[in-house]
Amino acid sequence: SVKIGVLALQGAVSEHVRALELSGANVVTVKDVRDLDGVDGLVLPGGESTMMRRLMDRYGLFEAIKLFADQKPVFGTCAGLILMAKQIEGRQGPHLGLLDIDVKRNAFGKQVDSFEADLEIKGISESYNGVFIRAPYIKSAEENVDVLATFEGHIVACREGRFLACAFHPELTDDPAMHSYFVHMVEESI
Ligand code: GLN
Repeated sequence: SVKIGVLALQGAVSEHVRALELSGANVVTVKDVRDLDGVDGLVLPGGESTMMRRLMDRYGLFEAIKLFADQKPVFGTCAGLILMAKQIEGRQGPHLGLLDIDVKRNAFGKQVDSFEADLEIKGISESYNGVFIRAPYIKSAEENVDVLATFEGHIVACREGRFLACAFHPELTDDPAMHSYFVHMVEESI
């Protein structure tokens, strides 16, 4: 089976590990550069993107993940999606800059800090419970980006080649559809 790493600097790590294992992957947590050895695909979890970036820099993982992403699949959820975006509203320059999307952080406003919504995710699920927590949304995406889901007119999931991202937290539901999809992407990439 494929080996998938979950960046484990912050955020909902164990839930991702469990969901990926249920989808048939061999899973390792990634806390430093050596943990990326032999990893076929990487998950960037939710949390807080600015803090996660700081920790990536501190542990030398920022450059290592950029190099990893040159070859291999990456799946970002919530803060992970922000880390992958080429444009972030209100911020000069991207973090990893992997996805041709423009994102807005904390985009759903204070009154609806956290909510759940039933989503149709193209090619993945006709009815998926999206758990949104201080979630971003994708304001715009270039043509090469495949929009997989929208909520109230805003893009909340997409794929661009070997990169997958969603604004919600798939690790916080019992539905394995998103994780299985990523495991298949990784299987097809090796
Ligand atoms: N608001 C967070 C950020 O900007 C993301 C929230 C999340 O990952 N649940 O990084």
